[in-house]
Amino acid sequence: MQTLTYLKNVVTLALVPENCTGCGNCLQVCPRAVLAMPNGKAEIINRDACIECGACQQNCPFGAIIVKAGVGCAAAVINSFLGRKSACCCTLPSDNSPPTGTGCC
Ligand code: SF4
Ligand code: SF4
Repeated sequence: MQTLTYLKNVVTLALVPENCTGCGNCLQVCPRAVLAMPNGKAEIINRDACIECGACQQNCPFGAIIVKAGVGCAAAVINSFLGRKSACCCTLPSDNSPPTGTGCC
């Protein structure tokens, strides 16, 4: 299957390294393998794959992850169904016909 990506350089995801304890929760819940822990602390390794679902932030007990969740692809899918031009490259066909997929992940 083709690897789907979100828009380039627009993701709000940020890490606060000094707060990270290396518990690994964020890696377990991330559906897009955005994060890794090569040196005992979480690092962002594939920022553009992030769909801003917010799961990592919700499951980080130490406030080490900040992301503006609840927009992104979900909003684009809704806009597409309403006939508006979508900003989501993974759901809107190039001829602007209704999307056939159900989202990114
Ligand atoms: S917001 Fe979702 S997709 Fe992005 S890094 Fe966190 S868990 Fe992964
Ligand atoms: S959930 Fe938070 S504390 Fe745990 S590894 Fe991820 S960023 Fe670090």
